[in-house]
Amino acid sequence: MKKTITVFKGDGIGPEITDCVLEILEAAGAELDYEIFNVGEAEWKRNGALIPDEAYASFERNRVLLKSPITTPIGHGFRSLNVTLRNKYDLYANIRPAKSNAAVKTPFSNVDMVIFRENTEDLYVGVEKMIDEDTVHATKIITRKASTRIIRDAFEYAKNHGRKKVTCVHKANILKMSDGLFLSIFEEIAKEYPEIEHDDKIIDNTCMQMVMNPNQFDIIVTPNLYGDLLSDLASGLIGGLGLLPSSNLGTDYAMFEAVHGSAPDIAGKHIANPTALLWSACMMLEYLGQKDCAAKIRGAVDEVLEDGTCLTPDLHGMATTEEYRDAIIKKIK
Ligand code: NAD
Repeated sequence: MKKTITVFKGDGIGPEITDCVLEILEAAGAELDYEIFNVGEAEWKRNGALIPDEAYASFERNRVLLKSPITTPIGHGFRSLNVTLRNKYDLYANIRPAKSNAAVKTPFSNVDMVIFRENTEDLYVGVEKMIDEDTVHATKIITRKASTRIIRDAFEYAKNHGRKKVTCVHKANILKMSDGLFLSIFEEIAKEYPEIEHDDKIIDNTCMQMVMNPNQFDIIVTPNLYGDLLSDLASGLIGGLGLLPSSNLGTDYAMFEAVHGSAPDIAGKHIANPTALLWSACMMLEYLGQKDCAAKIRGAVDEVLEDGTCLTPDLHGMATTEEYRDAIIKKIK
């Protein structure tokens, strides 16, 4: 039986990469039906709602969302819709796998790490207070509940996927109480998994180590802000943001999206790389138990990357988004 999922098209390159991904899913025979909505800044300008009520209702019904990037105003304006969705549906585990592809040449090889980013608290609670006209305080929240569940998920993933090591990334040398709590919970939970190696690193050192020797990292678990920063860094190691997918999982809901933003600098130019969203869709198919379909798509993408003649400009090719899509569909067929 087909599963109905909700799709948010988003802003910038969102609509173009979504259309492309839906066509590939169709060609691969995904057992899916879609409820598709425009959301985000553009929708707000058109209809006065960032996320229309019907779009929320659809996600609440279907509980699985494939979401494109949404533009968030910088330094003013509405709160990030991504943060809103993650909080509203308690999508606490942001899982971001960064894996080198042999066909995409970068100065780094054999990178294969999965970042577990806590997704509901830390500085992203967005609580800022004007103390006086020259002073602002921002609140960082770290709780035992949220830290425990993401750290446990990271160890469980390691156990179930044959991973060897979990690294906790923090700044507990300075933030002794908040990151200190995160680290102490990590150390407690690590004892329950003696078969999995564990260590911890300070965030600044981690940035250097990720560039000097990324192969030492296997699973990383970290509070919200560091996870956000490290995953963009990780994307740079494997060929850029066009290649980094993610899932946002909670107990009741699941949302799948590319790590990248709405890329307004290339929107409408037909050069966006849809792979990150496509691989997020593959994570969604795997989550839904449609593993063969995901494998078919992953295989076709690998072949197109390996072939190297039809790549988007971020991968040093000349192809348009649509030509790249068609090359993948041809391989699938
Ligand atoms: P961005 O990720 O949109 O773009 C960063 C750079 O990477 C740009 O040069 C862009 O052209 C390039 N890039 C990104 N995705 C690409 C793709 N698929 N193919 C080829 N090139 C790609 O980051 P930004 O410019 O800092 O943010 C733009 C907007 O997106 C902001 O409003 C930001 O708040 C928002 N944003 C949204 C999400 C989300 O919806 N999950 C995530 C991050 C940023």
